[in-house]
Amino acid sequence: MIQIAIDGPSGAGKSSLARRLAGELGFLYVDTGALYRAIGLYMMRAGVEMTDPAQVLPQLKKLQLELRYIDGAQHVFLNGEDVSEEIRREPVSMAASKVSAHQGVRDFLTETQREIARKNNVLMDGRDIGTVILPDAQIKIFLTASAEERARRRTLELQQKGQKVDYEEVLEDIRRRDYDDSHRAAAPLRQAEDAVLVDTTGDDFETVFQKLCALIRGRLA
Ligand code: C5P
Repeated sequence: MIQIAIDGPSGAGKSSLARRLAGELGFLYVDTGALYRAIGLYMMRAGVEMTDPAQVLPQLKKLQLELRYIDGAQHVFLNGEDVSEEIRREPVSMAASKVSAHQGVRDFLTETQREIARKNNVLMDGRDIGTVILPDAQIKIFLTASAEERARRRTLELQQKGQKVDYEEVLEDIRRRDYDDSHRAAAPLRQAEDAVLVDTTGDDFETVFQKLCALIRGRLA
């Protein structure tokens, strides 16, 4: 099986690029952030203090997560409920970031992610795919862009979905998540030594897509 890992901070364009690349290559696209988001949503609903592992970890045994593919699109099911839409909301982003700092939460999701990669050719995006989940991935890409550029893209994306958002708030959220994701003790966000760094600041989607296509095809040839 072929494994392609794409890691990087939030808003670098990972998910839209990864989805289209996977389609192009005929690989399964796995958005691992959706799993952390579903756990964040569960903990929000349960009303637990997300930064406290003593409150978060015992809840995990009540929680069943499943990724299903419907018409080629990944859906995440939380105890049988399709939460794919709800997990995209901004409060859930912050919740996901907080719960993902706990080693117990990461361990809970490790096997789910590896099992998918054992059975399929995958293009998996996240924060620790190249460093922890799939250290032997044939291709590793670290995709990034400036915080301001990522905030601009994210604001536009949420506005297009009809959500009321403020650029400054989005930028602040992105900075906070960047800091939390890269300073946590458990699997901090960092570029794997053997990953190719791709900075998308100032490039449009199509340019980056073509760049990544060429990179992947070159490696797979
Ligand atoms: O990628 P996305 O923004 O959907 O991820 C939501 C949050 O989940 C991130 O801010 C990050 O804290 C966490 N995450 C993670 N490891 C992954 C994917 C996401 O810690 N592999």
